[in-house]
Amino acid sequence: AQMRQMEADQEFGAGQQVLVQLSDETRRMATERMRTDFIANASHELRTPLASIIGYIETLQGHARDDEAARIHFLDIMSQQAARMQRLVEDLMSLSRIEMDARSTPTTPCDLSRIVLEVTDGMQPLAQRRKATLQVTFGQETAGIVADRDQIGQVLSNLIENALKYGGEGGTVRVFRTEADSRFPGMIGVGVSDDGPGIGREHLPRLTERFYRVNAKQSRAQGGTGLGLAIVKHILARHGGELDVASVQGLGSTFTAWLPLHTQDEAA
Ligand code: ADP
Repeated sequence: AQMRQMEADQEFGAGQQVLVQLSDETRRMATERMRTDFIANASHELRTPLASIIGYIETLQGHARDDEAARIHFLDIMSQQAARMQRLVEDLMSLSRIEMDARSTPTTPCDLSRIVLEVTDGMQPLAQRRKATLQVTFGQETAGIVADRDQIGQVLSNLIENALKYGGEGGTVRVFRTEADSRFPGMIGVGVSDDGPGIGREHLPRLTERFYRVNAKQSRAQGGTGLGLAIVKHILARHGGELDVASVQGLGSTFTAWLPLHTQDEAA
């Protein structure tokens, strides 16, 4: 009986090992799939504006060569398309830099209140251009976090930029402090809310996927790359934080960046 038990143990052990190997293999394949999808998406996003630029160059070299009005118009479009490619390349570089940093945790104590103040001050001109009101009620009371300042700045500017872009003209974007949420114990949140059209429930879980857009045409028209929230998610994860999204169609959306609070002495 003992012998049979040993055989059974061995078999069970071997079986378990096969299972583990299978799930490793499945995970490896899923990762590989994500990587190839990502490369395909990125190439497609770059190819479209590039094809347009090449098309206009050919037109300008051909029949539109001596057409002053066409030249001005086409150069304008080419410059917009080149700017789009530039934004995309910058976002792709940000993403890969964050991924490379992912293994190291941030070490600099800083005050979230000051970061919020700096970023929101810098974004007032954009709000004005969008005829929107950017209302900041985060307050100046110290909120100690340990972070990469620039990256947290990028999280906030991505969220505020989205609220201004999708919130609709003439709307109000609020940036506020939120704390003591039982879902995020020991964390402090920066909430960014807009009174735009909101986002359908079915889209919410997918918003932070690379290149996922609710409305691709609208996103492109607004100069979006589809990478903003993926960047936000990666940065927050690196800081031990989280992104929370709440949205009601017709009423607006609230994106909250949650970060672990550190005591004042640490953040001095
Ligand atoms: P994009 O460059 O397209 O803005 P993001 O990753 O920043 O990419 O956002 C992904 C998508 O989420 C957007 O295309 C948009 O459809 C949706 N979205 C993001 N923020 C908001 C918001 N405040 N209100 C409505 N939709 C939003």
